[in-house]
Order: sequence, then C-alpha cells, then structure tokens
Amino acid sequence: MTISTSSPLVDLNRVTKAYKTDAGLFLALKGIDLHVEAGEYVAIVGKSGSGKTTLINMITGLDHPTEGEILVGGEKVEKLGENQLAIWRGRTIGVVFQFFQLLPTLTALENVMLPMDFCGTPAITERRDRAHELLRLMEIEEQADKLPAKLSGGQQQRVAIARALATDPPILAADEPTGNLDSKTAEAVFSLFERLTQLGKTILVVTHDADLARRATRQLHLADGVIVTDVNGGNRSSGIGKQKSRRPKVRS
Ligand code: ADP
Ligand code: MG
Repeated sequence: MTISTSSPLVDLNRVTKAYKTDAGLFLALKGIDLHVEAGEYVAIVGKSGSGKTTLINMITGLDHPTEGEILVGGEKVEKLGENQLAIWRGRTIGVVFQFFQLLPTLTALENVMLPMDFCGTPAITERRDRAHELLRLMEIEEQADKLPAKLSGGQQQRVAIARALATDPPILAADEPTGNLDSKTAEAVFSLFERLTQLGKTILVVTHDADLARRATRQLHLADGVIVTDVNGGNRSSGIGKQKSRRPKVRS
C-alpha cells in the first residue's frame, strides 16, 4: 500500500457522530478537525463519556461518522467496505484494546501470526520469525508458546501490541490499553509506545491517566465531543518525536 505523504497521515475534517437514543439524537462528536503527522505520539484524554472511544473507532474504521470526512494514509475510511476495511486495517493501523482480546485457544505466537495469515503478509516462510521478532521487541518472547490464560495482564497486552504490529502498519491506535493494568505495568506499556515512535510508528493512545498522557508528544483533551485543548510537548525523556510546533488551541 502506498501511504500518501502530501497530507497528514490521519486527517479528520468536521467529523460528527450522532447516536440515536430514546431521548433523541445524541452528538458524541461535534465537528472534530484533527490532523496527525507521521511519527507523532498522541495521547487522547478526557472524562468518561467525552467521546474518546468514538473518536478512535472512527479512525480505525470500526465505526463510521454521521458527517464529515476521515482520511488515513490518504484513504477515505468510510468508503471502504467491511472486507476491504479488515485488510486495510491490517496494513495501515494496528488496534489495541483495554481487554487485550487475544484468542484464548491460540498461543501468544499464534495470536501474533493471525493477522499475517489474514492479510497474507509477510510471506508464509517469514511469519514465524517475524512474530518472534515482535514478541522480542515487546520483551515477551519467552512466553511465545503459552496460552493467554497463562499470562499476566501486562504480558497479554504486550502480546496484543505485538499482534497489532504483525503486518507492520505505520499507525498504532490503542483505546485505554493500560486501563486494566497496574501503574508500573502501564508505565512500561507507554515506554514501549515511545520506543515504537523511535522506530517510526505513529501512536494514538486513549488514556484516563494524565501522568501517562504527558509521556506522549502531543495531548488532545476531549470534552463533550469537542477537542478543547491540543498541546504539543510534554515528553520529558528526550528530543524524540520532535515536530513542528503547534499553537495550543484553548477553546474552553
Ligand atoms: P469515552 O470513550 O470518552 O468514555 P465514548 O466515545 O464511549 O466515550 O462515548 C461518548 C458518548 O457517546 C457517551 O455519552 C456514550 O454514552 C455515548 N455513546 C457511545 N456509544 C453509543 C451508542 N452506541 N449509542 C448511544 N450512545 C452512545
Ligand atoms: Mg472509552
């Protein structure tokens, strides 16, 4: 797949999402404009119900906007059919969930190989080695042959991140990936994301935790379906993820 370099890697224009409820239409996202460049490490924060999951699901194509346009890697996400979406996601955006969602009957290694089989990449002969390499990168290779039930939450999430990277997508999207982990393990997961940005990945991560969010290079604050602040900076560790400065927009 060719990823367009002329426009932002993730490009949302006037994105609105309305849910039908008994009380009428509820606007979970209200005209979101968001532009993320390749290599950014973006944390999305906000109270429960502010629209974080809805926003991430729009970007990964797990759900579709009511209005507006979403381009990821130059592709209009809402135009892709269900089958195309699954293949597109494999090549473009790895997804990580709060509850890991590993297949319980497959070993860690087999879980990581699954998207490779589904997307037909890399070549069959390379899949096992690539899965081992990803588990090594996530510092969990010694657990490769174990079933998920034999692993701790933090170990399962490392396997799930390895799986999200299986087909080498440029973007990783994670919805509260540390919501079910203790704080030390959560720190470790955010450190892994940092390492992935150094390897050229673009990270979008939803978190409740303001301290963890500060480890990202850009923080978006959502409230009632609106981005109320968009701040660059905050990564204390180094100059990595440096990007052109963006004026913080404060609308609240
Ligand atoms: P967050 O992830 O920030 O907690 P969500 O994106 O899950 O927030 O939800 C945003 C708002 O949209 C909430 O008020 C939630 O109740 C509402 N919502 C989410 N999904 C649905 C749905 N399928 N139907 C109706 N309302 C929904
Ligand atoms: Mg959520």
